[in-house]
Amino acid sequence: MDNSVFSALVMTLVLFGAGLYIFEPFIRRGTVSLRDDYAETPLQGLLSQKDTIYSALKDLEFDYQTGKLSDDDYEELRKKFTAEASTVLEEIDSMRSGKNGGSKAGKKSQKTASATAVKERTCDKCGFAHEEDDKFCQSCGADLV
Ligand SMILES: [Zn+2]
Repeated sequence: MDNSVFSALVMTLVLFGAGLYIFEPFIRRGTVSLRDDYAETPLQGLLSQKDTIYSALKDLEFDYQTGKLSDDDYEELRKKFTAEASTVLEEIDSMRSGKNGGSKAGKKSQKTASATAVKERTCDKCGFAHEEDDKFCQSCGADLV
């Protein structure tokens, strides 16, 4: 009796362990892709930048209080970090206020940028726009290859 309970317990543990082992890569991949998304958002990037600056300010405060920094150094670095923080905060504000389709506008401008990059090919001699696989200029007949 006890033996079967024990083996059931062991089986449960083994299954649980196997489950973790099997699903671990998926779990990890999920975490990684989540982090990638996180970093891709400009706003999230700015927010983490803000956090970095704030923690730098805290460290600075700590260094100053423990006597690692002189008054001048502390003052100078504090001003620098505060200026950086306000720049980042301004960017965050402008990004948040332009939130209505802000990310859509970003995607649109990216698309047009790549489209123009492909399209713009002009004749060296007369500046006439031509297709990528044209061998001669449609306007002046110059050799395009
Ligand atoms: Zn031409």
